[in-house]
Amino acid sequence: MPCVCSNCEAGCGLTAWVDKKTMTVRKYMGNPLHSGSRGRNCAKGYAVESQMYDPDRIPFPIKRAPGSKRGEGKWIRTTWDEALETIGKKMHDTLKVGDEMSKKLIMYHVGRPNENGFSGRVPHTMGLDGFDSHTNICSAGARQGSIQWANDDRNSPDWANAKLIFLQSSHAADAGHYFQQSAGLIADARKKGAKMVVLDPRLSNSAGIADLWLPVWPGTETALYLYLANRVLHEKSINGDDLVDHDFVKNWINWDRLMANKEYLQFMVLKGYISKVPENDSYESFIEVMRELYAPYTKEFVVKECKLEGYEYKLDELFDIFIDAGSRIATYLWRAGPIAHRGGWMITRAGFLPLALRGAMRGDIGGVSWHHWHEISVGGKGDKATVAGKKPPKVDVWNELAWPPEYPLSTYEMSMILPHLLMDEEWQNKWRAKGLNVPTKLSVWIPRMYNPVWINPDGFRWIECLKDESKMELTFNLSPTWSETNWYCDYVLPVGLAGERHDQQSAPTKPERWTAFRQPVLRVAMEKMGWKPKVEHRGTLEAHMKAGLGEIWEENEFFAELLCTYVDPDGSLGVRKYWESAKTPGKPVTVKEYYNAAFELLPNLRKAAHAAYPGSEYPCYEFMRDRGAWTEKTDIYKPQEEELEFDGTYYHAHGHKYHTDDVTKDEFGVLWIVDHEGRMRSIGVDIEGKLHEGFHTPDKKLDLFCEWLIDWKWPEYALPIYPRNEREYDKMIHIVSQVHHRYMKADNEYALNTVYRLPYNIHTRSVNSKHLMEISQNHNPIWISTEDAKKHGIKRGDAIKVRIVDTVSNLESGYFIAMAVPTEATMPGVLACSHHAGRWKLKNAVDIPGFDHKLGIMGVGAPLYEMTMDGKVGTLKPKEGIDKGVKSRPDTWQFKEFNKDLDNIWWDGLSGSWQNAVAPVHPDPIAGNHAWHQKVIIEKAGKDDKIGDIYVNYENNFKTYKAWRDDLTRPLDSSDKERRPFWIKRPVVPLSKKAYEVDIKDI
Ligand code: SF4
Repeated sequence: MPCVCSNCEAGCGLTAWVDKKTMTVRKYMGNPLHSGSRGRNCAKGYAVESQMYDPDRIPFPIKRAPGSKRGEGKWIRTTWDEALETIGKKMHDTLKVGDEMSKKLIMYHVGRPNENGFSGRVPHTMGLDGFDSHTNICSAGARQGSIQWANDDRNSPDWANAKLIFLQSSHAADAGHYFQQSAGLIADARKKGAKMVVLDPRLSNSAGIADLWLPVWPGTETALYLYLANRVLHEKSINGDDLVDHDFVKNWINWDRLMANKEYLQFMVLKGYISKVPENDSYESFIEVMRELYAPYTKEFVVKECKLEGYEYKLDELFDIFIDAGSRIATYLWRAGPIAHRGGWMITRAGFLPLALRGAMRGDIGGVSWHHWHEISVGGKGDKATVAGKKPPKVDVWNELAWPPEYPLSTYEMSMILPHLLMDEEWQNKWRAKGLNVPTKLSVWIPRMYNPVWINPDGFRWIECLKDESKMELTFNLSPTWSETNWYCDYVLPVGLAGERHDQQSAPTKPERWTAFRQPVLRVAMEKMGWKPKVEHRGTLEAHMKAGLGEIWEENEFFAELLCTYVDPDGSLGVRKYWESAKTPGKPVTVKEYYNAAFELLPNLRKAAHAAYPGSEYPCYEFMRDRGAWTEKTDIYKPQEEELEFDGTYYHAHGHKYHTDDVTKDEFGVLWIVDHEGRMRSIGVDIEGKLHEGFHTPDKKLDLFCEWLIDWKWPEYALPIYPRNEREYDKMIHIVSQVHHRYMKADNEYALNTVYRLPYNIHTRSVNSKHLMEISQNHNPIWISTEDAKKHGIKRGDAIKVRIVDTVSNLESGYFIAMAVPTEATMPGVLACSHHAGRWKLKNAVDIPGFDHKLGIMGVGAPLYEMTMDGKVGTLKPKEGIDKGVKSRPDTWQFKEFNKDLDNIWWDGLSGSWQNAVAPVHPDPIAGNHAWHQKVIIEKAGKDDKIGDIYVNYENNFKTYKAWRDDLTRPLDSSDKERRPFWIKRPVVPLSKKAYEVDIKDI
């Protein structure tokens, strides 16, 4: 049975091999019909089987025992029906009030979505501004840089045809976003002779096999990218030609707007960026401006700034490789730097500059394009199958808990400070007095496959907030496994893993548009063998119960029934119609109806499906059910150059037509219309007499010059820039990393590199996959360079105390005790400890009244710990290793056939620690993301300290959150009439003009 891996965002195809006699999955392999993954998977893909038959899998819905407190660990068994009824009533009562506030009190907090649109449809159909993603702890810095250049969420490289694979960190080649598919394509390119360059303070697997590894001080990469730009601007090729691709830059970069803005050019003079305002606004003058602007980023500057002393020759090698690749340079500037630092977004912004100058951002063969062109999103568009028959209107309210007024430009929701905002009455009162209707609580908080207590910074703050029932009145996690967060929820509702749920998933992994269809493989197998569910809209739940997997459901069927039958039973809230079946009114829409309607939206798929399944009621559904993957379009290159048709009366653009009377052209050749909300929107651009669709920016070009940053109070960053001297470090503090070497004074002060992903860990869900845990063992040592280790007398295996200190508030957060591993694989001055390990639990198992077996908790993945917390200080201490915990119960009551080898578990998991809890939140003042890296002070551990111990002063962490918020941001004020630039989408759920409008009182 085909399905899709759900263990990261890549969405690789899987095929489940189902044993028809036992109705179990014997193995998961790749799906060769999936043109993105091409039949391949990483270790996490094959490990889906051990996740599926996890001995500690939650077998049925559980609920906090009546009378117990959150976190006490007392649970009772409940039913899906009871959960639907209780939760549905609470949501109904909240929405029934019908005022603005009621639309802010339900929050759907999505971890890794691994689907394209369904999760956003849930709050959207309720009219809520109530979606929180995990993105601001994940990749929002990189997305901000991409939005600034192209108003596109992320770039999309053509790895396979590149001549240079240009990587910052291990992402793409050996871990992280889309890595398995990217790694295969990168290998293809290298086979054809492509070079690979890796910038990373850590010798990752990718760096180890690269042609060139540059260990750059974390957070200073911007300087290096501007150095490349400087050389491209000033030097010539061996033929004496300019290195700048003038044809591309002149036509597709918005240099003309910079040259037309004399006031800004004057500002640049005042700032010392350039010496004088150019005499004219010609392209040639622009190039002169660029040359002057980037001239200070010399080799000497970069060597000092990036701490590359001794590696000067590598910079020359880098430049030669960069130039030799021409415009065939592929990159994916993603997690690592951009999410690790204050101003990390500028790393992405500056990183694209030398590529743009070389023409590599044209979206052509072997270069860089943008994700919108390569990704298919129809998962939220099955509306035709519902009574409503169309999508819901835009949402009319703005939720300050998702988008506080301090962060109007935040890339995604400020979800990592949700508990801080909920508990910060001073902040709430301040903005209420200024006229904003700020929520003080949530009525329902719904994490979906998310574990913020463990993975977010300042975990004790999350626990405090979750424990406070006046702040989060009802909570339920849709979660296939146990997690640290589940421990503090009211309900844990077990939903399916990769082969146990329906989702449409697509990812921009190559220059084509593919989509895959995740599905519950046992259900599909049983249906093919003649089985039918008694209740069609509960087919997945019934199938899993019948097959002995447990009472495991899926979000799609759950939400359709919850919202149709329980939240809005009589349709009076206007929600029901979006979830009620058009075919069988009165019943929730079924997954077959929904996904058939969604896939019908893809013309080529529709044609193929109707031809393959003539006369079928659900041809598109059946087509995807049997193939699991489809490629709608291949070879998508230079889509911005797509010509815009004009027939003499109408302009035809993006599938719409616009009457010539309604279209105006500005002095830069951009075609504008007024949309139904009364806003100017561009539809195309005239370049040298030809009309093109252009990029997604309002000016339809790549925005070297982000003019809008001037209006939004950040004029100094409207161009890619980096401080050049001490005075500018202070002035431009917003783009100087909190772990810059200038903050490291004593010889035991270090930058801690936290954000690298281990290819065998999956955020939170891998915790009890025994195959993955056998590789990772919850092992989380701290890397220290041999030179630094020698200096401190630290040997391999020594326990060291790692104290985290904030460089804005100057407060100490506490410490974690880590196991030191001296190595040549991290640069001197920089420690490395991935934040993807260090799991814990507070009980080995729980008793469920009336149930014969104990429910084990993360038995193969998390050691047992003891916790204390008093509202100010929290501690965690290891108590028992994984091996001992499993030995005390070597047998399992469920999935015995798959778990005969539990007595082989040898790892204790005690070499990791929960560093995330010690880290305070660092909200970037512009991109809004958490800047992950930390300044640390190390010392040898005391005699009573054990590896894994943590001590957290989370009262100090709260002060640090306030310092970053109040000392670094430029909040909305009475001069602002909108909450955010309207053309930068609020991701996921569309908001109306009314929602964007704001009126702030001066007080
Ligand atoms: S790269 Fe991601 S989606 Fe692909 S097999 Fe690995 S975990 Fe699964």
